[in-house]
Amino acid sequence: MNQTKYIFVTGGVSSSLGKGIIAASLAKLLQARGYRTTIQKFDPYLNVDPGTLNPYEHGECYVTDDGAETDLDLGHYERFLNVPTSQANNVTTGRVYLSVIEKERRGEFLGKTVQVVPHITNEIKERMQLLGKSGDYDIVITEIGGTVGDIESLPYIESVRQLVWELGENNGIVIHLTLIPYLAAAGELKTKPTQHSVKTLMESGIKADILVCRTEHELSQDLRQKLALFCNVKKEAVIQSIDASTIYDVPNLMLEEGLDKVALKKLDLPEKNLPDLLQWNEFLHKLKNPKHEVNIGLVGKYVELQDSYKSILEAFIHAGATNETKVNVVSIHSEYLDAKTAESQLKGLDGILVAPGFGGRGIEGKIETVRYARENKIPFFGICLGMQMAVIEYSRNVLGYKDANSTEMNESTAHPVISIMEEQKNITDKGGTMRLGAWKCQLKENTLAHRIYGKTDILERHRHRYEFNGEYLNELEAAGLKATGVNPDTGLVEIVELESHPFFIGVQYHPEYKSTVANPHPLFVNFVAAAVKNKVGC
Ligand code: GLN
Repeated sequence: MNQTKYIFVTGGVSSSLGKGIIAASLAKLLQARGYRTTIQKFDPYLNVDPGTLNPYEHGECYVTDDGAETDLDLGHYERFLNVPTSQANNVTTGRVYLSVIEKERRGEFLGKTVQVVPHITNEIKERMQLLGKSGDYDIVITEIGGTVGDIESLPYIESVRQLVWELGENNGIVIHLTLIPYLAAAGELKTKPTQHSVKTLMESGIKADILVCRTEHELSQDLRQKLALFCNVKKEAVIQSIDASTIYDVPNLMLEEGLDKVALKKLDLPEKNLPDLLQWNEFLHKLKNPKHEVNIGLVGKYVELQDSYKSILEAFIHAGATNETKVNVVSIHSEYLDAKTAESQLKGLDGILVAPGFGGRGIEGKIETVRYARENKIPFFGICLGMQMAVIEYSRNVLGYKDANSTEMNESTAHPVISIMEEQKNITDKGGTMRLGAWKCQLKENTLAHRIYGKTDILERHRHRYEFNGEYLNELEAAGLKATGVNPDTGLVEIVELESHPFFIGVQYHPEYKSTVANPHPLFVNFVAAAVKNKVGC
């Protein structure tokens, strides 16, 4: 197949309808039929990337192998497809404008007036086709962030219109995701908001080819007929997306509704094989039929917002299914935890994870949590800041350096066991300047880390500025906190663990970004297994 086909996914009526999950589910079905598929997300905000956004604003910042700080939907794409994404898969308005303005400064527009149309739209269209032109994909799905009708979405909508026109018949299609609200008082599902939203799209010159309708109740045949007639789509192109108990059910629900078939038909592509969802369905079966149940404490400072720790929560779902275990994640706010309340807040947990994070808020609670897990021999897993807290806790309570800290929290501490690297010291720009993306790590044999991974060389994704301070390595190791994973090029410590504990591991990187349905992350899998073991006491 030489012509890459494009599917654009827009959203209407309301935000948070789950465009990312619909795009990922459709991609999964197309991939399972044998099509090389990728998904990209175009976000209408002015930040160059979400790296500078507070997790309360935008949820977790997801990191790719090539070090891009991206929208959390890219995490869903990887978890569903098991194919790595990259910077090319996430573009924001900020990035588009930055690039156009830089070109203007270099004089590349040869004296022309630089305008939204055509310069911004051309830049958007070029980026929309970047992955398609690589020759690696048969189908590229592009999710447009935001809601149709928003001022800031307009250049994207115009770019989609132009591109669909330029690509020609059957080469580019539009899926519009909307909400069909249920009015309890009237006992009725309402189609009017969808009609209006489709109309708004049409005013911009785009005709939706497929409507995906989020709904709490089944759509009747009559209602589908009505939607088809008023929204100008075929009846088979009205796809119901009913609320599901897990996002991992959505590919099967879309298969039942025939979303993949309609899309292929519109793109004039053969259906090929029936989607091979064998492994996917085995995962679902295990997920839904657990034999054990554990409670795992997630100690962090952004716990009020589920999306802040999205990849960690999903990694627990994958690891839970692998262990045939229902993992109840108990969110614990580190800011409200201290030596006095640690016991009452952490007692009874089968495992404890100390979360990543930035800044000083809540860190004393995290340090207390590590102490509790260490002393009470509860399986402990520290990620990034969580690992740094484990190093600080050991330095304070075992080495006796009461003021041990990270220079992120206290620049003048006499014992900076976590400190900033030389090359980070003069950096003033916050965006895209941390240690980001995949870095090598070598594991020492006969360690927990080595047993877990079953190999010595690993690649894991990072997102942090501060590091284990090598000056304290010998002292900490002699006292029992071992560095069991080290970057072979820089010597930086990436993993610490305690031998005299059933399961105590801290990693400087973010394993959660690499956990997928097809490849649950071994650290999460083994941590959940340790929690099960701790609970049943064998
Ligand atoms: N704030 C810490 C650092 O920058 C940890 C970052 C994180 O947990 N992602 O090193």
